[in-house]
Amino acid sequence: MNMRFHSTRGLAPETDLRGVALSGLAPDGGLYLPKIWPQFSTDDLHAMRGETYQQIAFRVLRPFMQGAMPEDILRGIIEKSYAAFDAAEVTPMRKLGADCHLLELFHGPTLAFKDVALQFLGHCFEYFLQDSGRHLTIVGATSGDTGSAAIAALANRKNIDVFILYPDKGPSEIQRRQMTCVDAANVHALAVTGTFDDCQGIVKALFADARLREEENLSTVNSINWLRIMAQIVYYFVAAQKVEGKPTFVVPTGNFGDVFAGYAAMKCGLPVGKLVVASNRNDILTRFFATGRMSPQGVKGTLSPSMDIQISSNFERLLFDLCGQDAKQVRGLMCDLKDKNGFSVSDKQLRQAQEIFVAGRADDEETLATIADVYDKYGYVLDPHTAVGVKVARDLALPQPVICLGTAHPAKFPDTIQRAIGLTPSLPAKTAILINKPERTILLPASTERVVAFMRERKKS
Ligand SMILES: *Cc1c(COP(=O)(O)O)cnc(C)c1O
Repeated sequence: MNMRFHSTRGLAPETDLRGVALSGLAPDGGLYLPKIWPQFSTDDLHAMRGETYQQIAFRVLRPFMQGAMPEDILRGIIEKSYAAFDAAEVTPMRKLGADCHLLELFHGPTLAFKDVALQFLGHCFEYFLQDSGRHLTIVGATSGDTGSAAIAALANRKNIDVFILYPDKGPSEIQRRQMTCVDAANVHALAVTGTFDDCQGIVKALFADARLREEENLSTVNSINWLRIMAQIVYYFVAAQKVEGKPTFVVPTGNFGDVFAGYAAMKCGLPVGKLVVASNRNDILTRFFATGRMSPQGVKGTLSPSMDIQISSNFERLLFDLCGQDAKQVRGLMCDLKDKNGFSVSDKQLRQAQEIFVAGRADDEETLATIADVYDKYGYVLDPHTAVGVKVARDLALPQPVICLGTAHPAKFPDTIQRAIGLTPSLPAKTAILINKPERTILLPASTERVVAFMRERKKS
């Protein structure tokens, strides 16, 4: 049976996977979720033992893709997507001491976990557009890693234009160069004078403009696009097959996308101990899981810039479940978030969330100390985002086995690594070549009108 998807806000028509991919955000401003979750039995899980990443990906993704693409196409897309990774296992796992497994998710073209989903998304877009005569305009907000991964996945693809908005002072030099040094006519990286939340706000405003949305055929590469989450579910299954017992996953979190993929894996039948939400000083989620109150404060710049977020879009997907799939209640709470700068859930809802999620935070000093300590003990260099997760894992008494998600390669953040251990990690050759390339920088104010004007201008030329 074909998989159907509905919106968390309940006012958009149901659609299929193709519709979900090509629209990104639901027309009512909500996020798409599958109406029924595929279920993997103990036998299914057993069959995955010893299989390759690609084989497990095919098993996990097939039910979601039913009706959207033939199985041989799906198999081909999975092969192509992960051929661009420089590790045979795609997401290898290694041990850091007796009680921590580290899942390395950063072996793709731009050295962060975003590649895992975006490589796949790029090929899916191409397949869904082919023969349709349609042109797609992709817009995305990034604090650094989504933009570079989206550009790597979509550069020079036919019938697609990509506009990426990033905070002008946010990304590291490597992250910025991965966006500004790519010479492809369909790629436009825009530096916005503002924060990541400003960029994400503009993207949401573009989607809220029904006419623009229609005229430009907008979709997005942010994790509000269900395909991102879906492709990330795979590595939770892959990692779980490599340990004995129910794993606890520790996830450095910003937009709540990656950790929601863990929750989705659980909903599909993967036995999981706990899901640990690790934040930097932008700890809105950590505060939520302690108090049941969601209240954004100003964004603070940290050494883990990809997590400098206060409005975690994907939280709405969890909220939908906490509200018993009552879209009206979700709409009310999302309204309060916008108009009253926050909302609270009931004690019962909070307890329901706490049964699955645990949360903790680490500040910059703790991040640096964790990088130094892990390097001293194991000779392994953590990137600052992964270090936030490892620090939180060490602070909490977690049920074993513990799998920490390694979300980026340390070489993306050389200044921080230098501060922590006095060494600069060497860049993989595929990234080092960017250092001598010219940059194309476009600076715009944090204004939706200015971004729209720029898009229209650029599309004409
Ligand atoms: C995007 C990102 C995160 C946060 O992931 P979310 O899905 O937004 O929670 C963490 N670490 C790195 C390196 C990232 O690029």
